[in-house]
Amino acid sequence: MSDFACEGCGKELHQGDLAHHCADGVALCEACAPTFQDMLDEMPEQAEADYEVTAGVQAWIAEHLSAGGALTDKAVRAIPTVSEEDLARIRAAMEDAEDAPAPLETQH
Ligand SMILES: [Zn+2]
Repeated sequence: MSDFACEGCGKELHQGDLAHHCADGVALCEACAPTFQDMLDEMPEQAEADYEVTAGVQAWIAEHLSAGGALTDKAVRAIPTVSEEDLARIRAAMEDAEDAPAPLETQH
C-alpha cells in the first residue's frame, strides 16, 4: 500500500521512508530530493515568496549541520506516521485537487 508517490519519478513512498517534503505538499523520494545546498541556492527566490518557509528551511539546515551533516547531503526526512483518519483526509484532498469538481459538492 502506498501512502504517497514521488513527484519526480513516481516511486511509491510510505510512512517512515526518507523523503523531501515541499511546503506545497509535494513529496520527492531520496533519489529525486534536492540537497541542502540546492535549497540554499533556491532561498533568495523563496524568501520573496514565503518568509515562514524560508525561516523553517534555515532552521532545518542549521540543525542538520550542527548534527554533523553536510550541505551535500540530501534534504530528506522520514515521512511522519499519521493515523488512518488523517491519511484518508489527505487522500481525499489529493483526489479533489486532481479530479474535476466532486459531484457530491455540486448537488444538494
Ligand atoms: Zn523520485
